[in-house]
Amino acid sequence: MIPPIASRFVAGETPAEALEHIETLNDRNVTGILNLLGEHYEERAPADADAETYRRLVGDIEDASVDACLSVKPSQIGLGVGDDVFEENLGRIVEAAQEEGVFVWVDMEDHTTTDATLDAYERYATEYDGGVGVCVQANLKRTGEDLTRLAGIPGKVRLVKGAYDEPASVAYRDKAEVNERYREYLEYMFREFEDGVAVGSHDPEMIDHAIDLHEEYSTSFEFQMLMGVREDAQFDLAEEYEVYQYVPYGGKWFSYFYRRAMERKENLLFALRAVLGR
Ligand code: FAD
Repeated sequence: MIPPIASRFVAGETPAEALEHIETLNDRNVTGILNLLGEHYEERAPADADAETYRRLVGDIEDASVDACLSVKPSQIGLGVGDDVFEENLGRIVEAAQEEGVFVWVDMEDHTTTDATLDAYERYATEYDGGVGVCVQANLKRTGEDLTRLAGIPGKVRLVKGAYDEPASVAYRDKAEVNERYREYLEYMFREFEDGVAVGSHDPEMIDHAIDLHEEYSTSFEFQMLMGVREDAQFDLAEEYEVYQYVPYGGKWFSYFYRRAMERKENLLFALRAVLGR
């Protein structure tokens, strides 16, 4: 069992715990995005094993009758071993998910992985005519061009600001510039994408911008936020819009929890209060 200090951000160590959390979300009109924690395997065996766990999760989602989809990190299912290993494992997951009507998201990692991730996404989104989504990062300078390519592919696209510390040669490092790009790309997506836009942000300004764009273009869209972050806002938005919560679980919870706790002062204070019992 994970300690209470981490349970705000991580749903547990087992699929059963994660699905139980998703049931409580569903009761409030929020859909779960299940993510098995773990990344950066350099060997095939653990990458194959995690891909197999994702395949089994599809059955678990069906058995539990919850509203949930999956989100997978490329380096967790073999990208560090080879593009072909990643593509093969992603294909196995998407195939199982398609049989049960479960949507599969592909997370985006650092800029050295973008080409392989978009190629694999294009292959399966085209092969399965949607049913797959990919994340793109507003901080990367290439994203404007990537969006032009993605507009012609069936499937959903999640826009985030970008979580990786990228060099200035490939990324905007100034926060205001990233925000500007986020707004611009969101507008492009609402204008050009027919298969749905996912707004992956907790930022009230970006959320309002998305609502304005939806009113202007009527494009179908969803909000996506992380477990433990602005949950009140998630539940409020869910009364009117589609809202998804990214729900990480698994034995490798510590480094994810540590990142969440350190990224904002409020999160760290919350964690410390949990330890001190106040
Ligand atoms: P920020 O720019 O960090 O903050 C802007 C404002 O949002 C703040 O001023 C505050 O008002 C509000 N806010 C933000 N965080 C908090 C908080 N913890 N508590 C209270 N208010 C807060 N990144 C990737 O690189 N690849 C991925 O595949 C990826 N997938 C993601 C999936 C989801 C569902 C989400 C939500 C994020 C994902 N990210 C991913 C992370 C993303 O790139 C950002 O690092 C992260 O979302 C922080 O940016 P932001 O837009 O939420 O807000």
